[in-house]
Amino acid sequence: MEWLKTHRNDAILIAALMLLGGALAVFLYATRQDGGYVSVQMDGQTVMELPLSEDTQVLLGEDGHTNTLVIRNGTAQVVEADCPDQICVRQGAVQYEGESIVCLPHKLVVSVEGGQGSGIDANTG
Ligand SMILES: [Zn+2]
Repeated sequence: MEWLKTHRNDAILIAALMLLGGALAVFLYATRQDGGYVSVQMDGQTVMELPLSEDTQVLLGEDGHTNTLVIRNGTAQVVEADCPDQICVRQGAVQYEGESIVCLPHKLVVSVEGGQGSGIDANTG
């Protein structure tokens, strides 16, 4: 019964591929955790760098020009701002490298930098 053997091998191959795909997805998800730190830029200049591992709250800017940035549980979020569009507040929390919160009226950019293990590479060369 040669056909039976062939079909069984196919089933094993498909199962193996599914398992591999699942493992890859878990791996990609796991490596996307910890974003490292957030870089705060105002008017094109980096004014602050805050680690995502430490919960904190900072008030950025001056009167009539402020954004309240909260770092909690490894995520960064602008919880309050006095800009007219409130886009930065509505954007919600960011936590992965490459994600950012932008407040155009205040020329504020909060971006997640340096994921886990990439700090060394960024400083060499
Ligand atoms: Zn804003």
